[in-house]
Amino acid sequence: MPLKVLLLSPPIFDFYYSFHRAEPLGLLYIKDALAEYDWLCVSIFDARYKGTSKVIPTPEIFNYLHHLYVQDTSWFSLFHGFKRFGYSYDTIVNFIKDNAFDVVCISSLFSAYHHDVEVLAARIKKETGAIVIVGGWAVWADTKIVENGKADFYVRGDGELILPVLLQEIYCSNGNISHLPKLIDHDSSSVNEFFMHKFPHRDTWYAYYGKRMANIICSKGCVYHCDFCSIHSRYHYCQRTIDSVQQELEYLYSHGVKIVNFEDDNFLFNRRFAKQLLSLMKYYHTKGMQFLCMNGVTASNLYAVIDDALEAGFLEFNLSLVSSHEEVVVHHHRPALQEIIKDIAWKSVGKVRVIVYIIAGLPGASVKTCIDDILFLASLPVIIGFSPLYMLPGVRLFESMGVPEDRRFCRGSALYSFGEGFTREDITALWKLCRFINRIKIADEINDELRVHYEFYKKACNERVWYYRNKNGVWHEGFSFYASLPEKFTICDINGATRYIG
Ligand code: SF4
Repeated sequence: MPLKVLLLSPPIFDFYYSFHRAEPLGLLYIKDALAEYDWLCVSIFDARYKGTSKVIPTPEIFNYLHHLYVQDTSWFSLFHGFKRFGYSYDTIVNFIKDNAFDVVCISSLFSAYHHDVEVLAARIKKETGAIVIVGGWAVWADTKIVENGKADFYVRGDGELILPVLLQEIYCSNGNISHLPKLIDHDSSSVNEFFMHKFPHRDTWYAYYGKRMANIICSKGCVYHCDFCSIHSRYHYCQRTIDSVQQELEYLYSHGVKIVNFEDDNFLFNRRFAKQLLSLMKYYHTKGMQFLCMNGVTASNLYAVIDDALEAGFLEFNLSLVSSHEEVVVHHHRPALQEIIKDIAWKSVGKVRVIVYIIAGLPGASVKTCIDDILFLASLPVIIGFSPLYMLPGVRLFESMGVPEDRRFCRGSALYSFGEGFTREDITALWKLCRFINRIKIADEINDELRVHYEFYKKACNERVWYYRNKNGVWHEGFSFYASLPEKFTICDINGATRYIG
């Protein structure tokens, strides 16, 4: 009898989640890598595939956010309500029982969500008797989780390389696993040939605004060393062959995929590869394909090939500024990209929408520098992406600030801890300012609705109290903050036209 293995992409529990990047690319790779073993029978259960969500009680640990995440129908609204994104644990456990899986491998991709993976692992162990293996970024970043972990095994490294060996041990020992260590580490010198030359086949397809979409990845790792990021410490930069990327694009095209999202961390880094890739993309764009890079593209990489990129069928460019202050980015070992981003923004007007992200709350930055960042992006034909700082275990910068023992606080929505001089309320006020500016950037005209919102924004600036509008349209006083917000500013809308606000 073959070993029945389930690869499980679990639901997410948070105030917010975007399903657009939920396709379990890592598990798809693993499934194809395991397909060559006839003693295995491998399936995927993607708990987020249907895109369903359900409001659930907010965990008590997040009670401190109640005054910030209120129900708000205004342009300033943020999150309201904690949700489960994906199928319930009951559905998952019943599926495992009904199909009598021997082994369940759960992907745990983010330390802040790992707590929920442990709850699921415990239920699967208790209610189904399956052997449970957990792997993914959360394990790689934080091996402390292994000690009290409920799963049988924690694998640290690429599943395509580790799982064939571990599953063979389980198969050959008839499930007698007591001789194996709980933490299975990866030999970091081995090259993932499977990733370099192959691509995953899909049985199900995600959609993006009604069009069939797929996520792909052409490279792993990053050559930069931003100190708030863990990517560079895990992988040396490596890249697939252009032939395998071409084969994957052809496969996706022949299966009706209209939108391809690149998930690389350092997309378009290799100039020669970038040129080849863009010419492939242009070819598939003439056949109706469009492209995204939702995980971001480094502005300098994009700038080097901007003319080709503008013709390649991108729906949008996602760029990361982090800060417009050179001393802030240099402090974090990151290139200063302000001027390049400005050029890309203006070259892209009317062709490709540009979203530029800043990180609010970094050590070395201040409320004032963050406001400067926001006003800089307000003056460009781009949408502002606002990322509150969140901590990652195992990253020196955050370890020195004190990573919370309860890793659930290590998510952006937790607004947990920031550099000196930032309060949670100030970060929230800056976030709302970005929402307001973005709304003005996409508004057709300066109308009464905008004027009403501006009056409440002005009130917030003067009183340092933010107002929210309930579902009956009545405005109420909300939280207080310290930040000195600009009452007047200039905005460039996404078409390049200037709007003076004040
Ligand atoms: S450029 Fe991006 S992926 Fe690379 S180290 Fe910096 S933050 Fe990480």
